[in-house]
Amino acid sequence: MDALPNFDLVRPRTLDELVAARRSHRDSRLLGGGTDLMVNIRRGIVAPPVLIDVNGVAELRAVKADAQSLEIGAAATLSEVAAHPDVIKHYPVVAQAAAHIAGPTHRNMGTVGGNLALDTRCIFYNQSEWWRDANNHCLKTTGTICHVAPKSRGVCFATFSGDLAPALLTLDAEIGIVGPAGARTMPLAALYIGYARQDEPVTETRGDGKYFLALRPGEFIAAVRAGNTPGLRSAYDKIRIRRSIEYPVAGVAVALRRDGQTLADLRVAFTGTNPRPVRLAGTAALCGGALDDRVWKGLDALVRDQIMAMKTTFTPGHYRRRVAAVLARRLTARLFAG
Ligand SMILES: Cc1cc2nc3c(=O)[nH]c(=O)nc-3n(C[C@H](O)[C@H](O)[C@H](O)COP(=O)(O)OP(=O)(O)OC[C@H]3O[C@@H](n4cnc5c(N)ncnc54)[C@H](O)[C@@H]3O)c2cc1C
Ligand code: SF4
Repeated sequence: MDALPNFDLVRPRTLDELVAARRSHRDSRLLGGGTDLMVNIRRGIVAPPVLIDVNGVAELRAVKADAQSLEIGAAATLSEVAAHPDVIKHYPVVAQAAAHIAGPTHRNMGTVGGNLALDTRCIFYNQSEWWRDANNHCLKTTGTICHVAPKSRGVCFATFSGDLAPALLTLDAEIGIVGPAGARTMPLAALYIGYARQDEPVTETRGDGKYFLALRPGEFIAAVRAGNTPGLRSAYDKIRIRRSIEYPVAGVAVALRRDGQTLADLRVAFTGTNPRPVRLAGTAALCGGALDDRVWKGLDALVRDQIMAMKTTFTPGHYRRRVAAVLARRLTARLFAG
């Protein structure tokens, strides 16, 4: 491990102070639990001169959940979310996803905002400075080539691996964003722009593993909100190499409604595969009938089309895609059975 570089720490107490701190320190980074950011700083991947600690801002710490709606402040910890009785009762997919993240000490420190804005990962990126230097770095830092896809023409495929995002995507969540120009709200799905298409240049609205969040300079996530859908059953599961303290090989959130023997609604979202969490498009066409072979084949086809795992982890891409499909089937069958 490398030594930590010097940085200043700012500790705002209110949302206004936080916005002001962001405005005066343009190169600053927000510090949630630091469970990912501090690792990247120590590895020399990033070196922000100023860190702004969000944990003292009371407005960002609340978790409110009831049968109608869910609202979680960006500085709420993962442990708080995982243990909240009304999140467990009304939004099980969110509580389960939070409980699946890293280990207990990370969850005590790690925040919802930090998890939603988690940096994308790659075996050529999450390495020490000397290791990356020995490999001439890569596009996501200061290099000129992608080692995963050398013919990628400027596109990075680093993988989004946060566990909370897919869970919240199945609930059609939206996020509150605050920045120097004021506050705005957007669908959580619109936050993630890591499309990473080799045949498309990276733009402001369609990015890759390097430009994967639609946050403007100085903006940060303040809260995430979702409504409840009566009768929706939901769950989260993931496969990881070690059974604890581990990023997902693939993580899957499923939410569905059953009306008698009919599959009335099906929502499936993934993490650990693409440079963005993917809410599977096209599942509505699988609903309206029994949970039969047509659904399983359709689900497999959608995963094949939309899940694009590359060799960014030690686990091969095609294996992660297969695991994603198997988990989606298992969760769907389990939730449908009740
Ligand atoms: C051994 C290990 C295992 C891990 N396993 C998992 C895992 O299984 N699943 C998983 O999802 N993660 C995992 N992580 C990553 C990390 O612990 C979690 O994702 C955690 O939720 C990150 O939250 P944090 O508050 O610590 O983020 P930080 O490290 O503080 O920040 C992460 C990023 O988010 C930015 N940020 C923080 N708050 C905000 C905000 N409000 N708005 C905008 N940007 C913000 C920071 O500037 C930084 O870029 C693991 C980490 C380690 C070290
Ligand atoms: S996918 Fe390519 S550019 Fe992106 S981090 Fe990995 S090696 Fe670097």
